[in-house]
Amino acid sequence: MFSFIKFNIAKLSGKVAYHLAKHGPGSGGTYPGYIFKKIGGPESIQKIASDLNTGSVLVNGTNGKTTTTTLLIKLMSNDVQIRSSYENNTLNAIVTAILNQEGDLGIFEYGIRDAAHGIPNTVQKLINPIGVVYTTISREHIQVAGVKNPFNSYYNAKKLLSEGMQEGVVVTNCDDPRTAFIGLNKEKDVKVNYYGIATDVIEDIGDKSVECPKCGRLLDYSHFYLNHRGIYACECGFKRPEPNVKLTDIEFSSSSWDLTIEGDLFNYVVSENIKFNLKLNVPPFGLHNIYNTLASITAYATFTPKVENIETTAKKVFNNLDMSFIPTGRFEVVDIGDKLVGLGQGDNGDALKINTMFMKLYLDGPLEFIYTTPDEYEDEIFEDHYEIIKSMNPGHVVVLPGRKSIKKAEEYYNIIKKDYPDADFYPLGYDEMKIKIEKLHELAINSDYEYVIMSGCGEEQAMWGEIKKKIINE
Ligand SMILES: [Zn+2]
Repeated sequence: MFSFIKFNIAKLSGKVAYHLAKHGPGSGGTYPGYIFKKIGGPESIQKIASDLNTGSVLVNGTNGKTTTTTLLIKLMSNDVQIRSSYENNTLNAIVTAILNQEGDLGIFEYGIRDAAHGIPNTVQKLINPIGVVYTTISREHIQVAGVKNPFNSYYNAKKLLSEGMQEGVVVTNCDDPRTAFIGLNKEKDVKVNYYGIATDVIEDIGDKSVECPKCGRLLDYSHFYLNHRGIYACECGFKRPEPNVKLTDIEFSSSSWDLTIEGDLFNYVVSENIKFNLKLNVPPFGLHNIYNTLASITAYATFTPKVENIETTAKKVFNNLDMSFIPTGRFEVVDIGDKLVGLGQGDNGDALKINTMFMKLYLDGPLEFIYTTPDEYEDEIFEDHYEIIKSMNPGHVVVLPGRKSIKKAEEYYNIIKKDYPDADFYPLGYDEMKIKIEKLHELAINSDYEYVIMSGCGEEQAMWGEIKKKIINE
């Protein structure tokens, strides 16, 4: 039987821990949740999660989690009081937010590396979400020693987060075959709202086909939007589902973009289908943010109790958006006088690809590529990265370790050297972070090239955030 005494002690301890954490050392963002969990046990989490009268929505995926969560919070907080947490995407952070905030609806970013290191099915059971939002799934920074195929276990972990859901709505990207497949499998249990692009104006070139998540054959694409996201079908019958929320038109200009979005989806709160039409004017925020925009609008329209507000709220939020909604450490192109430097996090193939597409918009001459490598057991990431580096046709390549292993970085460097014999290598490890930041900064500033791209693996804040600060402040 559930112990209310234990629960109340846990709740109190969590609140006390919050106040201590606010004034003392340590993270105020997760410590109270940790204490609460420790004292109250798992049942207490179930109990406190049920305090949210409407329920919780979890945002998950490889890239775009933080931005999608941030946008969803901006949208939803116009209509209802919410409890939320983002960037620190652990169960402790979610519990901390539930403990210390007020509101009927929870919006939480939740990240999972793989089933062994995350606890997606446990989180699903404890939080019992009414919504799971998927952004996109691609191979990313995952260090799973001894696991032969880390991507499979990573993909399974993402599936597990919604697998046990018997009520609510799954919001998922239908242009990504992996997230679409999760949605199709959940249609038997819950409603699924898909979002995607429905205009040929957006087109990625080259062959980025991936394996069919259902049968393993290579998928047949009639159109690529961005990397492996596009219009696809397979011999086994698996094909892209139709989006409920779709981008039907886009007009680009250098100062802003006009997006036309049509929606026809199931709203969980009023329990009926609703339609909306949006014309939004946004900053030129990059193609990947189109997906983050669609994900956040779909999730918002699915869970807002005020369906009559959807069009006005979406316009209010997006028409007033500035670039500050993008998290620190993310890729940016900076003009430093004699050259343009594009720099920021590119932890996986998808992220690095997006960065290089962004850089290409500005490119008008030879390019130097300063690349920070992945770690040991991350050969898959390196493969994806290296394809992208080569596609940029750089005049010169510089290699530094982006993660812990210097030895592995040197191995990656030796592969690169075969195609780029004059490539340089600086074996600076994690312990030399200050020196490494200094070096990266110096390499960018003193480059002989007018165009420099600096991206790959590295700590979001501790490395990319710091280098960006240094370069922008000059
Ligand atoms: Zn198939």
